[in-house]
Amino acid sequence: MDILNQMQLQNHEQVNFFHDPKTNLKAIIAIHSTELGPSLGGCRMMEYESEQNALFDVLRLAKGMTYKSAIAGLKLGGGKSVIIGNPKTDKTDDLLEKFGEFIDSLSGRYITAEDMGMNVRDMEIIKRKTNHVTGLSKDLGGSGDPSEVTSYGTYMGILSAVKFKLNKDNLDGLSIIVQGLGNVGMKLIDYLVKHDIKLFVSDIDSDKVSKCVSSFGATPISEKDVYDLDANIYCPCAVGATVNDKTIDRLNFDIIAGAANNVLENYEKHGNILYRKNILYAPDYVINAGGVINIYNELGSHDKVDVFKQVEKIYDNLINIFAESEKQNIATNIVSDLLAEKIINEHKNDKIRI
Ligand code: NAD
Repeated sequence: MDILNQMQLQNHEQVNFFHDPKTNLKAIIAIHSTELGPSLGGCRMMEYESEQNALFDVLRLAKGMTYKSAIAGLKLGGGKSVIIGNPKTDKTDDLLEKFGEFIDSLSGRYITAEDMGMNVRDMEIIKRKTNHVTGLSKDLGGSGDPSEVTSYGTYMGILSAVKFKLNKDNLDGLSIIVQGLGNVGMKLIDYLVKHDIKLFVSDIDSDKVSKCVSSFGATPISEKDVYDLDANIYCPCAVGATVNDKTIDRLNFDIIAGAANNVLENYEKHGNILYRKNILYAPDYVINAGGVINIYNELGSHDKVDVFKQVEKIYDNLINIFAESEKQNIATNIVSDLLAEKIINEHKNDKIRI
């Protein structure tokens, strides 16, 4: 794969490959930008079909982190890491410690956190070898599970989209599909059901679906039927790329607003189609920024204002993006990319030097 060319296309600063024969660690750390501060982003451990897929994933995710932090107003750059392997069978303490040493060798240019296949305990093991790690338990001075904050931010984003698109200050009378009843999805539902909504839920885990049916009177919906449902809001909180060539023609929602990363399979193409279909899309990295805002708080880089108060800014950030999209007649995700780039250009000289 043409790596430098890929970096050039998306403007990445640095990509690091690590291998340790003893622990069989194979990892990539991508630093997209340190223009606003140290690059921060989670570590994902999974069995990729190819190294090329792992590289594609880490490059794309690192760039998303740069934009996410910029729009959230944080003095952070964007980075991400992947460990290639099965988190259930290949993850050992030695491997994680080695990964910690590799992170440390970057002298703070990259700070890690949890992502798919990683958990709080893993972060604590990595911490044995480097201080450039977040997402630690509250016992170790960390901020604990970020999904609480992410779900609140997503709720704020939904309220914002409803205000802009439907001119309503609450969710009463609306039908909402929550796809993915994990850490974020379940906590988000707690906020949604404070309103008089018709709730649809979908998850590959039938126990979670049953729980929502019995606790909230939700209507279960199978994965294949999600995209054909006539509902006001589709809230993706599971996997990414659910808006793709196979689903986009079927979508008939007013709003797409959820916590999942990389919701659109092809940002330029699918963002434009959603815009033309008059479906209001809340850009994923704007609406799901609660997690990174929480971590930023853990780094102690700001003046300890209430994290939830900061997260509420997601409401206004999205209103501004929606309004600009309407004014310029371009897709919301394009507006947010342009806004992030503008913020980086304006603030790169007052970054925290690394
Ligand atoms: P999670 O692993 O706790 O939950 C994901 C849920 O999705 C699980 O219940 C799983 O069974 C379900 N699922 C998987 N595939 C599915 C499918 N095809 N259809 C329906 N359900 C499916 O994850 P989470 O922490 O709740 O995160 C959810 C999403 O939000 C992810 O895309 C994550 O990257 C993103 N996100 C999370 C945070 C956070 O703070 N946890 C922050 C930012 C973004």
